[in-house]
Amino acid sequence: MSFHLDYLLALPGVRVETCTQVEGKIFLGLSISSEGIVCHHCNNPTEKLHQNRPILVRDLSVFGRPVYLKIPRRQFYCPFCQRYPTEKLDFLDVKRRHTQRYEQDIYERVKQSSMEQIGREEGLSYDEIKGIFEQVNTLKIKPNWQRVKRIGLDEISMRSCQGNFVTVVSDLGEGNLIEMIDSHRCEEIIEVLIEQPIEVRKQVEEVSVDMWGGFPKVIKKVFPNAKVIIDRFHVMKVVNKDLNKLRRAAGITDRQSKYLLLSNRVNLNQDQIDKLEVTLGKSGCLRIAYEMKEKFREIYETNLTIQKGQNKIKEWLNHAQVFFREAASTIENHFEGICNYFLHRTTSGVMEGINNRIKLIMRQGYGFSNFNNFRNRVLACFSD
Ligand SMILES: [Zn+2]
Repeated sequence: MSFHLDYLLALPGVRVETCTQVEGKIFLGLSISSEGIVCHHCNNPTEKLHQNRPILVRDLSVFGRPVYLKIPRRQFYCPFCQRYPTEKLDFLDVKRRHTQRYEQDIYERVKQSSMEQIGREEGLSYDEIKGIFEQVNTLKIKPNWQRVKRIGLDEISMRSCQGNFVTVVSDLGEGNLIEMIDSHRCEEIIEVLIEQPIEVRKQVEEVSVDMWGGFPKVIKKVFPNAKVIIDRFHVMKVVNKDLNKLRRAAGITDRQSKYLLLSNRVNLNQDQIDKLEVTLGKSGCLRIAYEMKEKFREIYETNLTIQKGQNKIKEWLNHAQVFFREAASTIENHFEGICNYFLHRTTSGVMEGINNRIKLIMRQGYGFSNFNNFRNRVLACFSD
């Protein structure tokens, strides 16, 4: 009908023949420019039209009004292979009732907002929005494992998830999420990770974890060249736990003292340091233990070779047996992994932000029908 509408529509291989408006909706009747198609069974051309049943397809809105395209769906007869190929259009995926660009638009908007909100804006049901989101997602999600050298493994608790725990796999170099697994059991984690090609897994040099028992086993099996790094923040947590016990044993129960004792001294202002001094004045043991805690943190802060790091920690352990019995035995048990930190000073620091973002998406409560859809959505949010 009109050159202008073809131009505005900007879809390849079609012309606008009619344009009508019904109840605030715009309907464009399209025709297809080509006479025939190439048979996708045998790659021969055919122009023998078998049947033509138009379908109604939603497209991007214009002037605030929903647009529907009436598109001929042509089925041909192929004389070469005697089959009946249906035409495939570049802007429409098989069996979909929305143009690709419409689905793409919905997808991007859902990521910024919520399925409920976009559903209201577009006059689509929740299930329709969800269907579109999952459709685009499955075409999109390919976690990027290329060039990953340092990985962080962590488990987070998800109350609304069936298994309660998910394992989060992050690329520590890029600060990005690369996989999410519906389990915290070794066997199941291995099963998922081992799907990556061995060349990809071999290039992983370090995997940073906490001291939970299972991960080193996973690492050994999945990443044959990787060194286990026990994340320094988890080690500090263990040390602080013993210090906190001593605080309670010394009868110091106020919250502020707890905060001051467990904080890094470098982060305190003069006023806080003065208050800390008062607290430490109440117990000689607590003061010694506090200094040891700070000493341990200084080891981490100093730029040491792995050999020197090992020596410093051994030295610390020699004095730690009295006040830090539990911490000392944990550190001894994970000595190698803890000292591997000094190789490249790798930490899981970026994982905290990643975990928080995942929990936020979880809390937004989209009611994912299964874990896979949730995983896809989370990975999509991290993929750009
Ligand atoms: Zn054919």
